[in-house]
Formats: sequence, C-alpha cells, structure tokens
Amino acid sequence: MNDQHRIDRIEVTPFAIPLTTTVKFATGSLSAAEHLLVTVHTESGVTGTAEAIPRPMIYGETTVSIAFAIENLIAPALTGMSIFDTAQFEHRLRHLAGNVAAQSSVEIAIFDAIGNALGVSSHSLLGGFAPDVRCTAILGSGSPEVVIGEADELKETLGITSLKVKVGLDLAADIELVTRVREHAPDALIYVDANHGFSAAEAVRFVRATEGMLDWIEEPCAADEVLGRASVVAASTVPILGDESCITTREVVNEVLGARSTMIGLKLQRTGITQSQRIREFCTALGVPILVASQGDSGIGTRVSASFAAAQGSTATQPAELAYFLHLENDLLAHPPLIENGRLAVGDEPGFGITIDADKLTHYRTDGK
Ligand code: MG
Repeated sequence: MNDQHRIDRIEVTPFAIPLTTTVKFATGSLSAAEHLLVTVHTESGVTGTAEAIPRPMIYGETTVSIAFAIENLIAPALTGMSIFDTAQFEHRLRHLAGNVAAQSSVEIAIFDAIGNALGVSSHSLLGGFAPDVRCTAILGSGSPEVVIGEADELKETLGITSLKVKVGLDLAADIELVTRVREHAPDALIYVDANHGFSAAEAVRFVRATEGMLDWIEEPCAADEVLGRASVVAASTVPILGDESCITTREVVNEVLGARSTMIGLKLQRTGITQSQRIREFCTALGVPILVASQGDSGIGTRVSASFAAAQGSTATQPAELAYFLHLENDLLAHPPLIENGRLAVGDEPGFGITIDADKLTHYRTDGK
C-alpha cells in the first residue's frame, strides 16, 4: 500500500553559515557551520529533510566524505525502500561501518518524510510526551567575566537558566571559572564539558574542587583511561555524563554497565532515530538519566532534536542543548526556532517542521549552484 512512498533519490547540498563568534572547546574551535542539507525524495513527490554535521575531530567524517557516503553507499542501498519500512534502514546498511553523521542524517530525513506523508508531526509519531522542552545554552571557554556576561544576556533575553560551560583547557582556571559562575547564578542549572581535556588524576581534583557547584560533569577525561575514569565516577557526588566516549549503543552499554558514565548525552546527528530510541530505552530501563545534546545543530537539527527530546518523558524532563543555533548568523529555515522563557516549543507542523527558505539556501550553499 505504501509503494508510492518508495525512496527515489537522495539529494545532498553543502552549505556554510558563519558563526557570530568563534566557539572554542578542548578539541578544536569553529567559526562557521559547514553542514550538508540532505533531502530524501520519494516516488510520490513527498520529501524529507535533515542536516548532516561533520566533526572530523570526533567521528572522522568531513563534508566531502559525508556527501560521498550518502551518494555512493547509502542511496544505492535504500533506493526503492518504502519510507514506512523503517526497520529496513539498519538492515540495508548493516555492512556499512562508521559514517555516523551520513547515516543519521538520511534516517532523520526518512522520518521527516513519514510525518510529511501522513500530515502528522514527527514529535507525535515518536511519543508526543510534552509540547516543549527546557533549553540549555553552551557557553564557550573564556574569562569568568565573558562567560558570566553571556549567561546574563541569555537569561535576560531568552529566559535561559540551564548552562553548559566548556572546560578542560586549564585546571586551575576552570575551577575558578566554575566557582565564579556558580556564585553569580546560584539558582541556575550548571554543568561543564571537559571534552576529555583533563587526565583522570586532574579530573578527580576538578570534581573535588567543584563539589556542590555543578549539576553534573561531562567527559572529564578520556574514556581510554578506563580505570581512571571509574575513579572519577567514584570521587564525584554528581553524575558523570558520557558523550563522545560512548556513541554507539554498544559503547553506551559498556560505559554504563562498567560504571564509567552515570548519565548519557544523546545526539541525533550521530545515532539517528532508531539507535537513539534504543539508547534512550536502555538508559530509561536502568534509571540512568539521559538528555538530548547538541552536535552544533543549525535550526534544522534543532527542530529534530527538540521533537525527539520532547517526545518521551525521560528526555523531556531533562534540559536539552537546543540553543546552539543562536551562534549562527542566519539559518536555512523559513521559520527559525524560537526560545521563550527558556523553552523551545515543538509545534505541530508535519514531520519535524522543516521548511527551507529557497533564497537563504541559494545564499549559503557552497556548491556553486
Ligand atoms: Mg560534549
């Protein structure tokens, strides 16, 4: 019955949107959102849209490799598949390792197409738990004055009171930074992300020095320091959140069961829909807190992440990292997301609510078309 919604082709368009400020973290810095727009076309004319976000320093993928993988490895395997046969996605790609952003973007676009074909929001199809979700803003490394100034502005203009501060570059300065930010914002939800920047020994010193100041601590040290990481968990009175140390379901299972991560950050841009659901259910079954994190999404990925986070109670009741798009000077969406009172409403448009503005795409696409 769904034959008219078979996948016909997949279109990939690179684009680059400058950031208004350079975002720095322990493993690199970014001055533009250089992403790819991914559009799944069905034989019926229904389309689904997503973005793919390269992170060579984390996953090894680049804009060129993602486009190659989608056009030459993924599209041929999926052509002719009904968008409703979602279990076919992993099955048909079971022999394609890695390429996490490429695979995830196509799967997200398929789920967007399902919503568009049915005229139903993806948020409802995924569970529809809450109409909106609390937003976390990610603050770049900087002096306490700069970080506090940024936090004040976010609270004043958007009502954002959940803050993630990037650390991991300088232990003493980071402890001072956390102390100052907490003193300034005693009621805010504050956590840090060290992006593996500390050794395990430094991380133990960090968790002890910041005890009582943080709500949780993300990636204090490398997962490769297996025993050291466990010692950080043992020393900490707040959860240790696993992000890049556990990307796949198997890695999440190993980190959680090995007690090296006691909270999990989920990124739709690397685990797509099905695997993200599997990870969320695993964590929920074990009582491990899980939040939806950001891969540096533009408004497109933000809508997807917000829909997924708000769809089920375990993620809807945690703040989600949905404010990164504010760093971009513009967006490809006709209607960029709006954060009000620190929350982002999901809306009830079909699919993930992604409508591309043709003029903006012409302006920001980098393929010369
Ligand atoms: Mg992180």
